[in-house]
Amino acid sequence: MSTIRFNDGMSFDTSGPLRIVRKSDGLYVVGKGMLIPIDNREEGQEIINQEKRENAKVEGILCVACGHDLAHQTRCPGCGVFVGGHEG
Ligand SMILES: [Zn+2]
Repeated sequence: MSTIRFNDGMSFDTSGPLRIVRKSDGLYVVGKGMLIPIDNREEGQEIINQEKRENAKVEGILCVACGHDLAHQTRCPGCGVFVGGHEG
């Protein structure tokens, strides 16, 4: 458990998925061990979306069957195996 505590008495558990929280001095994105100050919810949502995209990239970067670079396709260009997403 990783918790960040502030002088004003607020504390955030920085474990778990990214989410937007409001503190007395503004908005923050909290999660994944990070605490990021943001100007507005849109900025926070953008950070969360970006993090989701990064995760998807890491998970889907190589074919599990042959190790070929998938180049973000749902069917492996190397061996033709279906690797995720929605068929068709
Ligand atoms: Zn393959």
